[in-house]
Amino acid sequence: MAKYVYSFGAEGTDGNATMKNLLGGKGANLAEMAKLGMPVPAGFTLTTELCTVYFDEGGKFPDSLKKEVATALAQTEKCMGMKYGDAENPLLLSSRSGARQSMPGMMETVLNVGLCTKTIPGLIKKSGNERFVYDAYRRLITMYSDVVMEKAEDIEPEEGQGIRQQLEKIMDELKESKGYKSDTDLTAADLKRLCEAYKVKVKEVLGREFPDEPEDQLWGAVGAVFKSWNGRRALSYRRIESIPDEWGTACNVQSMVFGNMGKSSATGVAFTRNPATGENKFYGEWLIDAQGEDVVAGIRTPSPLNEETKNDQNRHLSSLELEWPPLYKELDDIRAKLETHYTDMQDIEFTIQEGKLYMLQCRSGKRTGTAALNMAMDMLAERLIDEPAAVMRVAPAQLDELLHPIVDAEAERGVKAVVSGLPAGPGGAFGRIVFTSADAVAAAKDGKKCILVREETNPEDVEGMRAADGILTARGGMTSHAALVARGWGKCCIVGAGELKIDLAARKMIAGGKTFKQGDVITLNGTKGLVYDGELAMIDATENPRFQEFMKIVDKQRTMGVRTNADTPEDAKTARDFGAEGIGLFRTEHMFYGVGSDNALFALRKMILSDTQEERVAALGELAVFVKRDIKATLEAMDTLPVTIRLLDPPLHEFVPQSAAAQAELAQALGIDAEAVKRRGELLHETNPMMGHRGVRLGITYPEITEMQIRAIFEAAAELKKEGKDPRPEIMVPVTCAVAELDVTKEIAQRVHAEVKASTGVDVDHLYGTMIEIPRACLLADRMAETAEFFSFGTNDLTQMSFGFSRDDIGGFLPDYLDGNILEVDPFQTIDQSGVGQLIEMAVKKGRGTRSELKIGICGEQGGDPASVDFCFEQGLTYVSCSPYRVPIARLAAAQAALKAKK
Ligand code: PEP
Ligand code: MG
Repeated sequence: MAKYVYSFGAEGTDGNATMKNLLGGKGANLAEMAKLGMPVPAGFTLTTELCTVYFDEGGKFPDSLKKEVATALAQTEKCMGMKYGDAENPLLLSSRSGARQSMPGMMETVLNVGLCTKTIPGLIKKSGNERFVYDAYRRLITMYSDVVMEKAEDIEPEEGQGIRQQLEKIMDELKESKGYKSDTDLTAADLKRLCEAYKVKVKEVLGREFPDEPEDQLWGAVGAVFKSWNGRRALSYRRIESIPDEWGTACNVQSMVFGNMGKSSATGVAFTRNPATGENKFYGEWLIDAQGEDVVAGIRTPSPLNEETKNDQNRHLSSLELEWPPLYKELDDIRAKLETHYTDMQDIEFTIQEGKLYMLQCRSGKRTGTAALNMAMDMLAERLIDEPAAVMRVAPAQLDELLHPIVDAEAERGVKAVVSGLPAGPGGAFGRIVFTSADAVAAAKDGKKCILVREETNPEDVEGMRAADGILTARGGMTSHAALVARGWGKCCIVGAGELKIDLAARKMIAGGKTFKQGDVITLNGTKGLVYDGELAMIDATENPRFQEFMKIVDKQRTMGVRTNADTPEDAKTARDFGAEGIGLFRTEHMFYGVGSDNALFALRKMILSDTQEERVAALGELAVFVKRDIKATLEAMDTLPVTIRLLDPPLHEFVPQSAAAQAELAQALGIDAEAVKRRGELLHETNPMMGHRGVRLGITYPEITEMQIRAIFEAAAELKKEGKDPRPEIMVPVTCAVAELDVTKEIAQRVHAEVKASTGVDVDHLYGTMIEIPRACLLADRMAETAEFFSFGTNDLTQMSFGFSRDDIGGFLPDYLDGNILEVDPFQTIDQSGVGQLIEMAVKKGRGTRSELKIGICGEQGGDPASVDFCFEQGLTYVSCSPYRVPIARLAAAQAALKAKK
């Protein structure tokens, strides 16, 4: 029979830190901390497998569970010397979610389970603190009615009408009528009255009595935690983070300890190092006389843990270090022990109950990209970890954040911030103000930059936080949910900007004496916590020496090559600075687009409009000058490194002007009549140009076009060699589907090579190869490799032609595919391993079957996507090629793939 319940505590612990899949992160680490002898309140974990069974059985637990829970509960009671549901000496429990991978704030928790008519008097007697008991009870009613009686029952109240809000409103009214400022002003009598009023409200709104039996409360709380796995927030978060639905969550039932038992009790959240900067300082927040949720919900501004990490927002508050030195020392010792044990930064939760410290949680802490980099390098220097471990510590996507912009200090100088808050997620961002998650999503859809401004941190906002360029909240601390989630995503985020006055209904906010409306632009400096009116300039953050050092270590672990897709000498240089080891794709046609392309484009158009071969050859002669110039400049920028130059790819009609005015202008310049230009355009028009006369097919029809390009390549290389340089051109033929296409083109290449050698005296070393971007080319890769010396997977076209999804039109229906779970990810961003991946695997095998030393790369967009890089490594590719800014990401992903393979 399956074991569904794992105990932890002084009377014996069943699990350990390696059992995350079964016990969830929280459960596994509670077990580990208990094993390390740390003060963990006893309890037990219901496994993730049980969660799956529960859903499979339509929300029912297996029969065997009651007995297992009873045994575990008895053991917990023994550890704590109390009894659940007992009238004299009642034990209270918490029921908390905990998945394999942390999903901060996305699932539910119920605290103080077991308080009821029967147990309340006993607890009052035992604690001698009536106020505390009724405070715990009102929290139980609030959480339980919200989580168990409303959310788990799929009741969807109108905005602002949830049971939690309705109960909180009663409390606010009571506070106002009594003139209280803080929750702690409420007396025992107030709270007792409040609990009665709450229960009446619950019955009125939800139509059911609040449960008064400890047994009912416990099973209700456990079921609701499991159900929260399929709650709206959890589902959205899983989609974004690609967490599989079938993992399920564990449920941790743990003895309650109380941070709200008066002035000698407290609760706190801490990180063993600073999660925003990585600085090796114990960093955290705590609140006297409070329960855990108060710290993260941002109801009161939390106090700092110690003196050295105080900031402008909490400088006036007293630190744990000064307030209770022995407890701080005990906690700091645990910090050291945890870091040595886990060799990583931990995110911990603790509670102090009447002067005694308890550990409620530890897990690897979420961190910004900057912090991840700094911690990896610091821990390496401290010899806590080795180089491979350091390389694994930074997620490739986090590098993106390091390469992202920050507010230009010059632009910031002399400008006064309109408001300030806590720097929860570093970097800079500007955008239009939006006040709701939905508006943020809508703005992002329209391609508009936006800053999501919210009163407080609310995990319901997860979609909007994802969509926004930056996040600003009026309340909450550095450990609030918004801060955690934003950091995880490397988003610029400022929380707890207390001076900010938000009027959500009117879509307005007041900051620094100025009223801002929805749509007004502000800038956030997330590194300093400053908010500015209007848009400030941003700069790149790439010159960081730590980053350079880290990338050196990365490259020591990497075996697969990383190249770049670059069409200009400037891009080539940028990519080289980022560590590119060559160009995997130089798209020749790009010299005909954009600034400075007028003359080259004119020559190309002249060639296209030629009526006869003689005219075309003459026009090609003019065009060759530009082609050679651009190729030479790029070969020079990449001197000593390979440059894969792809022959002209797009259909020719793309270069014929469309508007009558532009056609007339061209006609005049060429000295022909406008009608001829128009006619030529119409002749070239194709119904389906993506599958039309493009790529190698152009050269089959007009070999002189191919010849001109190949000559330009060899002549450019020959000139560079004469100048003492070391160019490494590779000629790549696009859109091929048959080896005969390659053979025809290769004959031209060989002839031109010999001619250039004869005329210049320079023998240009080169490779001749092909794109593999048509499924037929994969099927016949063994034949293609007879002629091709290298392959480069064009996974943009290969994906387009495998799925039959137009790469230009997929935007119109992809959201439906993703929302409907038909596709997990956009296959144009991440290689579809199960489908397109099979074609790649086959082509690699067949190609290398013919030519064992065949060099194989990828140059589609997916070449810079970490999951795709991992796949390419597994397939044995020689290199990946991606846009310049993604080169470091690909280097890191490739190094991590190599390390994973070693394991
Ligand atoms: C490809 O198809 O993957 C490719 C790199 O070529 P292009 O995007 O230019 O079609
Ligand atoms: Mg292509």
